[in-house]
Amino acid sequence: MAAVSPQRRVMPPHLDAGCALFLDVDGTLLDFAPTPDEVALPEGALPVITRLSELLGGALALVSGRPLHELDRVFAPLQLPAAGLHGQELRGAPAMAAAAPSQAMQTLRAAAVRLAQQHPGVVIEDKGGNIALHWRKAPEAGAHVTALAQAHIGQLAGYRLQPGDHVVEVVPANVDKGRAVQALMRQAPFAGRRPVFVGDDLTDEYGFTAANALGGWSVLVGQRTNSHAIYHLPDTGAVHDWLRRNTEPGPTNTEYA
Ligand SMILES: [Mg+2]
Repeated sequence: MAAVSPQRRVMPPHLDAGCALFLDVDGTLLDFAPTPDEVALPEGALPVITRLSELLGGALALVSGRPLHELDRVFAPLQLPAAGLHGQELRGAPAMAAAAPSQAMQTLRAAAVRLAQQHPGVVIEDKGGNIALHWRKAPEAGAHVTALAQAHIGQLAGYRLQPGDHVVEVVPANVDKGRAVQALMRQAPFAGRRPVFVGDDLTDEYGFTAANALGGWSVLVGQRTNSHAIYHLPDTGAVHDWLRRNTEPGPTNTEYA
């Protein structure tokens, strides 16, 4: 399917009881912070997400690049169905196999440490196999970080680079958010529902494409020209407003009340 023109994207419809909701986390539910550890959910978000999960019969999942244990920390005491590490970790479906961390990964990690010493503010996030290199606090280092990752990826058999917002990540080649959605959609309580995927970044395009292919809806947070998302919400505040409105009866779906 061709990318959708930004001018043509509108607000997503009200969810109904037949939907399954897949939510990216950073940049979708959480505003970005200088480092990944400094994020927090806005006040009042947790009760809304809890209520919406109940209304959808439990078919609400987080789909994130963060590991599951971090998602559980941010969303505590909730333990939602979730895909962590872009789907390498799955709660609610069998996990996808990942390539074993290799000597080449150690070499990349060591090179990244040297680069971070030269460019203070570059953050190396070690996710146990996967590595994410962030430059939100050192924007001028972005080209160097990307070049370093590109120079090493050829030695990392079974891995690919996942670019994102001020980050590049080394992830298993057979893992992405679209496959995570497909895996969860094969399981109860997701199976048979209409998938709705909400995300902001390039890695979410896999989720958008998977949701579209299953007859669902895709929602881009923020604005980007080269996206396959059908619908649009301008920022994280608009996402939380939309989620809250979806805990209230919609104009046409009385059964959902
Ligand atoms: Mg995101």
